[in-house]
Amino acid sequence: MDNKINTSVGTESVRDKYDIYRHCELCPRRCHVDRIKMVDFDRAKSVDFDRIKTGDFDRTKTGDFDRTKTGNFDRTKTGDFDYIKTSGYCRVGAEPIAARAALYMWEEPCISGSEGSGTIFFCGCTLGCVYCQNFDISRTHVTGKAITAERLAEIFIDLQSQGANNINLVTPTMFQPHIITAVGIARSLGLALPVLYNTSGYELPERISELVGTVDVWLPDFKYLSGELAKRYSFAADYPEYARAALSKMVELCPRASYDERGIMKRGVIVRHLLLPGQLAESMRVVEYLYSEYQNNICYSLMNQYTPTSGLDHAKYPELSRRVTTYEYNKLVDYALSLGITNAYIQEGGAVGESFIPDFDLRGI
Ligand code: SF4
Repeated sequence: MDNKINTSVGTESVRDKYDIYRHCELCPRRCHVDRIKMVDFDRAKSVDFDRIKTGDFDRTKTGDFDRTKTGNFDRTKTGDFDYIKTSGYCRVGAEPIAARAALYMWEEPCISGSEGSGTIFFCGCTLGCVYCQNFDISRTHVTGKAITAERLAEIFIDLQSQGANNINLVTPTMFQPHIITAVGIARSLGLALPVLYNTSGYELPERISELVGTVDVWLPDFKYLSGELAKRYSFAADYPEYARAALSKMVELCPRASYDERGIMKRGVIVRHLLLPGQLAESMRVVEYLYSEYQNNICYSLMNQYTPTSGLDHAKYPELSRRVTTYEYNKLVDYALSLGITNAYIQEGGAVGESFIPDFDLRGI
């Protein structure tokens, strides 16, 4: 085959020749990316990232990039492999973008405790739910700031010094390679806190497996069993399939929860389910499914805090323009108890208002 490269990045001829023009494999979207999302090759290889981000990293080491004079890879010729900007469905590139890193008091008691959870809110999202409570950072990242894995490690250490009970990674999926690197660096610098993976649940199980040794507590949502509902509200008809598989993998990796002397979770799985207005029947199906699979071996968090936010298209989703009623939520809780669920958190009082959503003001970033 002719070695001359076609200078039209993204054409089939280029993709045929170089494996690097393929798919991002970080989440079930498997976006076709014209420019690879990649991390520093040397660091990547040291933690066995070969398969991550779809790149054939060995080839990049051989100097093949000299021939990629397409304009997009100029930086690779300089040896500056930090990243090549791209974005898929999640709307963020390879480097982590975060909007806030601070102590957060509003997680479950075994997470926040009285000291707070050291929470990093990342920008972008692989789902993009129409009712997202963090819309300002999930569908845009104008308020976020790009950071390196080294800076992320510093942030972890800083949160530990502030007294955080854990490191809580909110919407981390798109930045998994950097996170693995950052946790490794931070551990070498003295990070002793549990690391929490706070995810929508829309995950590839094989990516979950790669987080062994990095993540201690799994905090997945389980939003829907109905593919139709997942498609309408989160543009992911396959959400139930992946959420089931990912949760199964998390429980396999962490079958038993453990707590410290203060009741802070050190290892375990907490599954969150947010009741949506008008979706009591779906929520009951979700709870029934989870209990049939895992009984009380996982911790449940049944949430009533749904709040219609300014990002919601009220004309398109009028059924979501209200909070859930006390009646709806009590029915769900009663149903969970009737199944035999005892290892659970429920929320008391009224729904949490939009004002309780944290300020994404780059604090701690
Ligand atoms: S992480 Fe982003 S770019 Fe990668 S497959 Fe998922 S949505 Fe697409």
